[in-house]
Amino acid sequence: MKEKVTSVESTPAKNKLFDKAVFKKEIQENVKLLFRKTIDHASQEEIFQAVSLAVKDIIVDEWLATHKTYNDTNPKIVYYLSMEFLIGRALGNNLINLRCYKEVSEVLDEMGIDINVVEDQEPDPALGNGGLGRLAACFLDSLSTLGYPAYGCGIRYKYGLFKQKIENGYQIEVPDNWLKNGYPFEIKRAEYKQEIKFGGYVRVVWDEQAHKNRFVQTDYQSVYAVPYDLPIVGYGNNMINTLRIWDAEPIVEFNLESFDKGNYTKAVEQENLAKSIVEVLYPNDSHYSGKELRLKQQYFFVSASIQRAIQKYKELNNNDIHKLYEKVCFQMNDTHPTIAVAELMRILVDEEDLEWDEAWDITTKCCAYTNHTIMAEALEKWPVDLFMRLLPRVYQIVEEINRRFVNQIEERYPNQYNKVKSMAVIYEGQIRMANMAIVGGSSVNGVARLHTEILEKRELKDFYEMMPEKFSNKTNGITQCRFLLHANPLQAEWVTKKIGTDGWITDLSQIKGLEKYADDPTVQKEFMDIKYQNKLRLAKYIKEHNGIDVDPNTIFDVQVKRLHEYKRQLMNILHVMYLYNQLKANPNMDFYPTTFIFGAKAAAGYKRAKETIKLINSVADVVNNDPTINGKLKVVFIENYRVSNAEIIFAASDVSEQISTASKEASGTGNMKFMLNGALTIGTMDGANVEMAEEVGEENMFIFGMSAEEVMAYEANGGYNPYDIYNSDGDLRKVLEQLVDGTYSKEGDLFNEIYTSLLKGTGYDRPDVYFNLKDFRSYAQAQARVNKAYKDRNNWAKMAILNIASVGKFSSDRTIEEYVKDIWHLEKITVNV
Ligand SMILES: *Cc1c(COP(=O)(O)O)cnc(C)c1O
Repeated sequence: MKEKVTSVESTPAKNKLFDKAVFKKEIQENVKLLFRKTIDHASQEEIFQAVSLAVKDIIVDEWLATHKTYNDTNPKIVYYLSMEFLIGRALGNNLINLRCYKEVSEVLDEMGIDINVVEDQEPDPALGNGGLGRLAACFLDSLSTLGYPAYGCGIRYKYGLFKQKIENGYQIEVPDNWLKNGYPFEIKRAEYKQEIKFGGYVRVVWDEQAHKNRFVQTDYQSVYAVPYDLPIVGYGNNMINTLRIWDAEPIVEFNLESFDKGNYTKAVEQENLAKSIVEVLYPNDSHYSGKELRLKQQYFFVSASIQRAIQKYKELNNNDIHKLYEKVCFQMNDTHPTIAVAELMRILVDEEDLEWDEAWDITTKCCAYTNHTIMAEALEKWPVDLFMRLLPRVYQIVEEINRRFVNQIEERYPNQYNKVKSMAVIYEGQIRMANMAIVGGSSVNGVARLHTEILEKRELKDFYEMMPEKFSNKTNGITQCRFLLHANPLQAEWVTKKIGTDGWITDLSQIKGLEKYADDPTVQKEFMDIKYQNKLRLAKYIKEHNGIDVDPNTIFDVQVKRLHEYKRQLMNILHVMYLYNQLKANPNMDFYPTTFIFGAKAAAGYKRAKETIKLINSVADVVNNDPTINGKLKVVFIENYRVSNAEIIFAASDVSEQISTASKEASGTGNMKFMLNGALTIGTMDGANVEMAEEVGEENMFIFGMSAEEVMAYEANGGYNPYDIYNSDGDLRKVLEQLVDGTYSKEGDLFNEIYTSLLKGTGYDRPDVYFNLKDFRSYAQAQARVNKAYKDRNNWAKMAILNIASVGKFSSDRTIEEYVKDIWHLEKITVNV
C-alpha cells in the first residue's frame, strides 16, 4: 500500500450536493447493504466499494441533470470513437472534480479510514495501451470540464491491457481481470442494446413499392452490443458526460429448445462470437496486427455507437435524418474506428433510404479523423477477402466509395496513375483505412505541429495537395485535474498560493503567474522541498514494490512510456552502461549521483522490446550490487507502469526522458505531464517537444540529437554505417562489446540480437534503424549537461519553475477548444442542480 502526500485541496468551493453527515451514514448503509457487515468488519476493498457507491449517488443526480439539459436544449454532440480509453482510477478523480475530495478524506479520517488506502483498492481500468488511449481519457475530462456535450464510445473489454510482472528480469504477462469485484461506477443500459451482424451474404431484392433494389444481408451471425455507461465528471460545473463502453451478448439464448429446432450449432456459434469479441484488448501500441477478431471489435463498437447516436438524434429531431450533421459529429481516434465512414453510409442508404449523394454529403460532414503515427507498420490495411467475408454489405459500400473517389482522382489528375496509387481506398487487394477516413470525413488532423507538417509534406502529400482545406493541426494536451491536482497535491496547493488563485485548474494559462517567482531563492527552495517530499513518496513505493532502496537526494531521471524501439529506451540503458564504465574507471569522478528509473510494458509479441526490458534489469542487477561505485548510480525498473503509479512517478521526477528518434513520436503526452510537475526535459526535437521548447525556451531544456529532417534524409539514403561510429568511439565500442561478452548475462548470449540489430542489421532491417548509436554522443553530452546543471540547485529550481509556468498550452482544455472551434462546432451547455 502506498502513501500519498496529503494536503488541503486547492479550492475552497464545495459541492452543493455534498453533506458530510449524510455521506458518512451512506457509507455505513452501503457496507451493510452490499456486504451484510458493519463498517469495522469491512475490508478495505469493501470500504472502497461502499465509498464509491456513495460518490456515485452524488454523481447520478448531476448526471440526470446533465441529460435533462441535453434533452431540453438539443445541442450538437460529439461522439469520440476510440478503441481505447485509458481512464485510470476513477474514485479520486471523481472526488477532485466534484470538489469534495477534502471533505470525503475528512469523513473517512473520522471513521479511522485512510483515503489513500481506499483509493489504492481500485483496479486501474486498463482499457488502453498508452498515449492514444490516455489522450481519449483526457479529452473526455476536458469536454466535461468545459461544458461540451460528448460521448466517449468504446469497448468494455473483459481483460484490459495485461498486468506486467517481472520475474528474473523478464516481463511476464498476467491477465487483468478488472471486473472481478464489479466496477462500482458503471451502469448497464440494456434498453439501448443494438444488433450487430457479421458474415453471410447480400441478397438483392427488388422493392416494387419503392421502385429500387434493396440489399439484404442474409445467413449472418449476430450479437447484441449492450452498453455500460461510466460517468465523466467535469470540474466543478455539475456536468457529467458519458463514456459508453459496449459489451457483447448472444442474441439467441443458448437452450434446449434451439437444439430441438436444429439451431444448436448456430446458438453455440453466436454465444462464442459474443464472448470472443470483447474478450481482450490487443496489446500492440503503434503497431497493427491484421487479426480478424480485431476487425470484428472495430465494427462491433462503431456500428453500435452510430446506431444509437442516430436513434437518439431522431428522437430529439422529429426523425429528420437529413440534418444529422447539424447535431452529430463522429471523431475517429486513429484509423481503428474509421469503418464508421462506411457504416454510416450503409445506415443512411439502406436503412434511412437516402440517395447515395445525400448520404455521402451527410457522412463527410459528420466524420473527422485524427492521425497518430506515420510509421508504416502502424498503418491499417485490411485484405479485401477477409473484409468481404466478415462485412459483405459494408464491403460493397467501401467499393463504391473507392470507385467514385478514383474517378475524382482521374478527373483531377488525368493519366497520373501514381496519384491513384497513393490515394485509392482499395489498392492491390487491400483496404487502406486512413485513406477511407480522409476521403469520407471533413477533417484530418495531426497531433503536434511537426507531425502535421510531416503529414502534409510527406506521408499524406497527395491528399494535402488535393484537399488542403481538410488538414489542420491539434497539438495534444493533458488534464491538469488528474496530473497535477490529484497526482501532486503539494505542488498544486503551492501553485495556488503563489499565484493567488486556483483559476489554473480550469484555465491552465494562468499558471504563467509563477514565472515572476523563478528567480526568488525562497520560492526555489519551496519547490525543491516539495519535489523532495514527492521523491520520498516514490522511494517508498519503489521499496515496497521492487525491494530496492533509492536515495531521494539523487537525481531521479525517469523514462516511463510504452516500450518501443523508436522511443529508444535502449539508448538510455546503453548510456547507463557507459556511465558505469566511467565510474568504475574513476570512482571519484565529478558526478552527481543519479537514479535511472524505467517503467514500460512491451507488447506480448514484441521480441526486441522484451529483450530490452531484460537488458535494463540485467544492468540494474550489476550496477545496483557493485559497492565500488558508492551508490552513485542506480537503475530501477518499476513493474506494471500504468496511470495510477504514473501519477506518483511524474510528481517525483527531476529529469524527463523524451528521446525518441526525431520524426517518430507524433506528439507524446508523457513529456507534458513531466513538465507540469516541474521535471526538466532531456529530449530530441520531436513531437510536442518542439513546441515545449518554444514555450519555455531551449535554454530551459536539454535538447540533443538529429533533427527530423536529418533523420529523414538518412532514411532516404538507406541509413548509415554504424561501424564508422564503432571504430571511432572507444567508449561506445566498449559498451557494445559488453552486450555480448558476459558482463550483463551470465546465462549466455541474451543480448546478441540487440548487438546484431545495432551493428549489422537483421534480415529485414538495416542496422540501427532508430539511430541509437548515431545520436549516442550527443545524448551523452546532454546528459553531462543535466548532471552539471543539477549541482546548482537554485538554477535548477529556476528552470523547473519556468517549465511549470510555461506549461499552459499543453492542457487538453486548450486542445479541446481547438477541436470545437475548427472541427466539431459545439456550444457549451450549463447544468443546474
Ligand atoms: C501519458 C501516458 C502514456 C503516454 O506516454 P508517452 O511518453 O507520451 O508515450 C502512456 N501510458 C500512461 C500510463 C500514461 O499516463
